[in-house]
Amino acid sequence: MSSPCPHTACGGCSMTAIPYEQQLAEKHRKLKQLLSAYGEVLPPIGMEDPYHYRNKITRTFAAARDEKKRPITVSGTYAAETRRVIPIDSCLIEDPGAQRIMNTLTALCTKMKIPPYDVRTKNGVLRHAQIRVGAATGEYLLTLVTGTPQFPGRGNLVTALRKEHPEITSIVHNVNGFDTGMILGDEKRSGHENRVLFGSGAIRDTLCGLSFRISPQSFYQVNPRGTEILYKTAIALADLRPTDTLLDAYCGIGTIGLSASSHCRRVIGVELNPDAVRDAIANAKHNKITNARFYRGDAGKFMLENPDLTPDVLIMDPPRGGSDLPFLNAVCRRKPNRVVYVSCGPDTLARDLKTLTKEYRVDTIQPVDMFPMTEHCECVVRLSRYNSK
Ligand code: SAH
Repeated sequence: MSSPCPHTACGGCSMTAIPYEQQLAEKHRKLKQLLSAYGEVLPPIGMEDPYHYRNKITRTFAAARDEKKRPITVSGTYAAETRRVIPIDSCLIEDPGAQRIMNTLTALCTKMKIPPYDVRTKNGVLRHAQIRVGAATGEYLLTLVTGTPQFPGRGNLVTALRKEHPEITSIVHNVNGFDTGMILGDEKRSGHENRVLFGSGAIRDTLCGLSFRISPQSFYQVNPRGTEILYKTAIALADLRPTDTLLDAYCGIGTIGLSASSHCRRVIGVELNPDAVRDAIANAKHNKITNARFYRGDAGKFMLENPDLTPDVLIMDPPRGGSDLPFLNAVCRRKPNRVVYVSCGPDTLARDLKTLTKEYRVDTIQPVDMFPMTEHCECVVRLSRYNSK
């Protein structure tokens, strides 16, 4: 089967040419190779519709010529390990509404003669754009990233975009003059705060019945339909009781802990990124949840600095690099009854299970396919103490 994707050089998806059922079988096979030593790996829970799930899309802008050799602006992604932008006007996994807005923006740049920013010469204006959608609310947040703080033509651009796309609820201007591989500039490092050009500067989405605020930089899972399945799986496996204290480690903006808060006595969240902690606290307040507290810090250090913290249940969702020994050893000493490990990196999950299985037995290994068409797969593992009831 050939790939239905017209832009395979983008390199984002490696499995588009394979039927979805076969993608799931292939992911299952790889996870079994890595994790079977710890127990049976259940077949991955797949998505009903494996297309157009991504709620965040980004593009880089570049100068090009049309078929009549006239100068135009294109937007796309860098070809692997190069500075060449491959134009992209459609994608199998991205939200279609976000793609339509991006294509309008790209055409408007040509029409209004807003030049793309060239990172080598440091000339031009628009460098990148990011669009996020609240899948449940239909709200769109567009972030325009320029190479310098100057943004000539921005007023007319915003007016034209809003006229063509009334579904855009907010537009933000971000500055990124650095060559770090990041799409959005760091407000502190660049000294240029994001400027709201229209709307509130954020959108809302609904997940597991709760409402979350999403700003341009905050971490939010990119597949909202898959996330609900993932969280429901993790919370069901946590088997929470009304008297339990739940520790939500690596909690991001608090989505897992807040979704679980009605099933337990209290939730304690810990997270390294201060912006995410602020969002988590605001999310608790907005949803009128009073039994959740969020703390900023490294998860391992937090355990060491709070020797009295003895959670009944731990849900941990570390980044792809996995957890670390200070945290895992502290868990083995503190001995919560159950641990639910949510992982997006099966290699580091296998590594970390080696430590946890000194004190815990693995009950369930349930993969959830959050990233159809790509080789990635989430995995939820439930562990209980050897001597627990
Ligand atoms: N559970 C959240 C976030 C998962 S992503 C969700 O489902 O949305 C992993 C999170 O771990 C990120 O927010 C990252 O900032 C945080 N993190 C990374 N290293 C950490 C550490 N050493 N201690 C605490 N949090 C960390």
